[in-house]
Amino acid sequence: MSYAQAVHETVRALRTIRGRWADLLLAIETPPADHWPPRQLAHTMREDDDEPLVVEDRAPLVLREHPAPLNLGALDTARTVERLVFDLADTLAAVVQHTEQDDPRAWLSPDPSAPDSRRAAGSRAHGLHWACVWIEGRVQDEDTEPERELDGTVSAPPFEVLALHLLHEVRRTARIAETRVLRALGLDQRETPLPEPCPWCAGELMLHSAPDGPPAVTCSGGRDCSAPVPLDSRERSRVWEWDDLPELIAALGVDIAAAA
Ligand SMILES: [Zn+2]
Repeated sequence: MSYAQAVHETVRALRTIRGRWADLLLAIETPPADHWPPRQLAHTMREDDDEPLVVEDRAPLVLREHPAPLNLGALDTARTVERLVFDLADTLAAVVQHTEQDDPRAWLSPDPSAPDSRRAAGSRAHGLHWACVWIEGRVQDEDTEPERELDGTVSAPPFEVLALHLLHEVRRTARIAETRVLRALGLDQRETPLPEPCPWCAGELMLHSAPDGPPAVTCSGGRDCSAPVPLDSRERSRVWEWDDLPELIAALGVDIAAAA
């Protein structure tokens, strides 16, 4: 794998992690559910409501209390992912960071001697989202040129360019964390039979989910199924793509708000 490819994959994984982080935090507060109907569809459908879904608390889990988390699996995943990402930032800072501690671009590793838990957490206190952005900056070689100060002097670059072995380490860790997040949200590649038969032909409905796209549902009835959606390319199944799913859910009589 080339340097550029590794950068591309790593950036994609980091963006997936922070893009899905709010969903994972919500999942902690939600009883574990089947992957049907898809959680993210429930969120999308709820956007029409007057009450938008807002995750206000971006504080890292290490600094939060979960007196009664409803989904221990999601909490466990979130804690693991946080630890992986925070430890990775610590490692990178130790190797490639030369900037001063008061530079807002600096990543501060935990300091157990600090007077309170927030300061003791260092940059971890800013949460996982910031950690992912900071790591992405290192992967993208941001701020690796010498800088001219206000008085005209030139100072050393705040960060070094990542060595190839370090880039691969970042990529590996980011991919592991990404996989954990997607699996916890039921967005990894999988096929799940739905409990209800097809409302049009009583065929078997199958939910197909994948990390890089929205889920779809197929009906095994194929041409014999009268559902108002297209057949797949091999003409063996009816397919409800993302935009068609609300119609299927309505036909099944599933209460998406309750299911979310
Ligand atoms: Zn059908």
